[in-house]
Amino acid sequence: MNVPDSAPKAQQARIETARGPITPGALGRVLIHEHVFLMDMEYTFNYRPDFFEDKTVTNAVARLDELKASGIDTIVDLTVLGLGRHMPTLAKAAALTELNIIVSTGAYTFDAAPAPFQFYGPGLLKHVDKEPMVADFVRDIVEGIAGTGIKAGMLKCAIDAPGLTPGVERVMRAVARANRETGTPVTVHTAPLQETGLIVQRVLTEEGVNLEHVVIGHCGDTSDVDYLMRIADRGSILGMDRFGVEFAITMEQRVQAIAAMVERGYAGQLALSHDCCAWSDFFPDVADYHAAMPNHNYLHIHNDVIPALLEAGVSQADLDRMFIDNPRMLFESAALAAH
Ligand SMILES: [Zn+2]
Repeated sequence: MNVPDSAPKAQQARIETARGPITPGALGRVLIHEHVFLMDMEYTFNYRPDFFEDKTVTNAVARLDELKASGIDTIVDLTVLGLGRHMPTLAKAAALTELNIIVSTGAYTFDAAPAPFQFYGPGLLKHVDKEPMVADFVRDIVEGIAGTGIKAGMLKCAIDAPGLTPGVERVMRAVARANRETGTPVTVHTAPLQETGLIVQRVLTEEGVNLEHVVIGHCGDTSDVDYLMRIADRGSILGMDRFGVEFAITMEQRVQAIAAMVERGYAGQLALSHDCCAWSDFFPDVADYHAAMPNHNYLHIHNDVIPALLEAGVSQADLDRMFIDNPRMLFESAALAAH
């Protein structure tokens, strides 16, 4: 790449997507936490051969094209180890849609480390001095994933109700070290009712991660504005990212929490999403998924949530910050910090 030293720094930042690098400005309107294919990969290989049929990709592309037509330009796909990441299939879908898809590396567990690392690592049966997960995550970012050449643009880990178990802490510190080596931003699945976002911020700070490059995911699952402000005051982006999941909290409550945060001056730290997918083996058929969760689809924010936010007093300028500026600044500042 031939960028003169005198070029403004912002022009040098590149964001990796499933179709290659793009400029921060090309991110456009972003949904910060989605999936395309979400599964128990071992179950799928054994019991769901339909995943490998062409129609799985064709149907997903139709959903992604609808999303693009609704005005969204980019999604962050947070499907990592533990959620059925299968990059060859994702690559086929990405090639057929104009939507940008940022893919992720990391691991999703609420308890133990992934099985391939339970005996392999510092102090384990197969001892190595350096945590081997870090090398896997960094390779996904620097060289690409599973021979596809597609590079991860986001790191991901999780901490749910069981809290900071040894396995969860090991994965989280590995994700943090991969961030320190590459600058790639981090998203963490958290359980706001157990306030695990605060634990994330402590551990990542210990590892030297800049909390402004961290999305605390699933903050939208609570209407506890005091908790949300404590997270935001330490600099992280809050993922208000499960619109359409209505088990514990309604759409109206999710909207009110955002309106309350905007009113308190936090519009610069919120990002919205659904955390939904186009194909999953979590239900026997995709029709069962839509019957069980009728609002959990890529268009719910466009069709229902944005009108409700405007009604609740959130301005169009605030919406533009949450969908355009906040994601762009997250990726741009992380990319530039890495150089
Ligand atoms: Zn998710």
